[in-house]
Amino acid sequence: MALDLINDWEKLKLTEDEDRVIGDDDTGDTVVDVKISLILFYNVADKQRVLEGCPWSFDNQLLLLKEVSEKMNGDSLCLSKQCGGLGFRDVFAWNIACLGKYVWAIASKQDNVWIKLIQSVYVKGENWWSYIPKGGVSWYWKRICKIKEDLKRHYTEAEMSSWPKYSIQDVYDTIKGDKQKVPWDKMVWNRLSVPKHRFISWLTVQSKLQTTVKLAQIGISTSDRCLICHNGTEDHVHLFFQCQYSEKCFWDLKRWLGITTTRSTLHDLIRWLKRTKQSKFVKQVYYAGLAALIYSVWQARNNSYWNAYIPSVEAAGKQIRAIVKLRIDTVIPQKISRRDMTWFSSL
Ligand SMILES: [Zn+2]
Repeated sequence: MALDLINDWEKLKLTEDEDRVIGDDDTGDTVVDVKISLILFYNVADKQRVLEGCPWSFDNQLLLLKEVSEKMNGDSLCLSKQCGGLGFRDVFAWNIACLGKYVWAIASKQDNVWIKLIQSVYVKGENWWSYIPKGGVSWYWKRICKIKEDLKRHYTEAEMSSWPKYSIQDVYDTIKGDKQKVPWDKMVWNRLSVPKHRFISWLTVQSKLQTTVKLAQIGISTSDRCLICHNGTEDHVHLFFQCQYSEKCFWDLKRWLGITTTRSTLHDLIRWLKRTKQSKFVKQVYYAGLAALIYSVWQARNNSYWNAYIPSVEAAGKQIRAIVKLRIDTVIPQKISRRDMTWFSSL
């Protein structure tokens, strides 16, 4: 009997999901080799967007597909969009959640051959929650025991064994914990914005653009002056929108869309736009305009560096209006009020 069970154990196959995450690793220490680039997507649409090169592309260069390892802080990539990330799944947490199913199956004494095997060959009547694997056991079994230790930080044995069924998603969410929501997700991930504008906006609201101040700090640039106006240190606060150039572009955008606030910093403006009593569509048009402005300012700054050329405020404004109109005309929602439609047509 024991021999049959051991044979069964040897034949145990990983599911396709598990295999993709675990690979062919037999060291028993790391879940995913740090050299493997691996990103699981929340859904097919996200995957398709990456394959099509948007919205994670900028000037046709794919920016975001890079190595994700335990040593690297991939946290901001892996948070959900409401929490400020790109919505990719954290592969390490997902891996624990997938394999946690076996921990649960043993804890809740599921009635199947596999559990009988485990009990007979390994656990042998010991308490599962305090069980420690002996040397010389299969790497796969060691892995499950390690996952149990990870899950102990989140659940008690009594909690886990009381679940009638196991949900990978629920366990994943628990492992990731409640992350604070950010106030800018609706602005950044607005469907009416041009995809590459969204990505640059996402970097901007988190102050992650490689501004001249940052380049000077790491010795790549000798000066920290703004590349557009040469009048201030070029950090995110200056660029959005203290810089005299970007401030004028900002006024131009406000005049065009009829935005009445006097708020002048990016985050203050986003908070104002979020609270303003306008329809969802009007807000989305505001957000699309703002994202286009952010992109345009960053592009002007890059053009100044690479091509020694900065478009006039008028030319930049004209381009922003044309791009925003074109984008929204292409993806305009079906259900918008006549009033909103008239307003948009008048822009
Ligand atoms: Zn400036």
